[in-house]
Amino acid sequence: MPEYLRRAIRRLPGTLFALIFPDQCRVCGEPLREVSRIPVCPKCLDEPPPLTAEFFCVSCRTPFLNPFPLDSEGRCALCRLGLRQFDAAYTYGAYEGTLRKLIHLFKYSGIRTLARPLAARLALALPRSQSFDLIVPMPLHWFRSWRRGFNQSALLAAELSRRTGIPVREAVRRKRATLSQAGLSNAQRRSNVKGAFALRRGMAVQGKRILLVDDVMTTGATATACAQVLKEAGAASVVLLTVARVDRRWTSPAAAPGALANAASLGTL
Ligand SMILES: [Zn+2]
Ligand SMILES: [Zn+2]
Repeated sequence: MPEYLRRAIRRLPGTLFALIFPDQCRVCGEPLREVSRIPVCPKCLDEPPPLTAEFFCVSCRTPFLNPFPLDSEGRCALCRLGLRQFDAAYTYGAYEGTLRKLIHLFKYSGIRTLARPLAARLALALPRSQSFDLIVPMPLHWFRSWRRGFNQSALLAAELSRRTGIPVREAVRRKRATLSQAGLSNAQRRSNVKGAFALRRGMAVQGKRILLVDDVMTTGATATACAQVLKEAGAASVVLLTVARVDRRWTSPAAAPGALANAASLGTL
């Protein structure tokens, strides 16, 4: 066998690998040195920090710049007004930077192998003191799920179940497709998803402590509509668990210059 052919064959596995897998981290662009089913370097996978806040609602854990939106029991206006149907919400990090890029790669570029590292973040955010009977993934409308080829929340739920041993039930379905929530106000978001969910036939959730899993929480309107269906079917509790949540501390009206000055004078900045 000619030497050049021998050399070509020796290089084949690497060449095939490079054909199938990109050789650059899809987040930072650095060359990938290790063989992995995930096209992201270990540094980027490890990077996203947990969300931290000095002030947050005791119930939905929305972070705030200062204590003013919270009542004497530490609840935000939405929780105080009963506009949330879930009992608590936990999240790993803020929906920005590397974590946002990882979620985009997972969801929109179809890199399903990211389900495992992202579910590891979910597990970190899971409250240790609480027990759950069922994991319920946030349903996608069948059309969106068909177009994307998968439901990202169902993949996360399956990985979390593998880690925790809590069974998964796709107990809720989307009855109708909803407009994208992007660009809608809180109230518009609530009416957009109102009545969009229904319990699947034959799903018994009576008395169950449910962990509702989703990739991202924005205002919690979608989770509220879904939790309402579970509560009406007799669920004992519904706790929302997400990989990331939109952190509006620095962009909301509360972060306007006046509010910032107030916060600064209170030593919260
Ligand atoms: Zn990287
Ligand atoms: Zn709240």
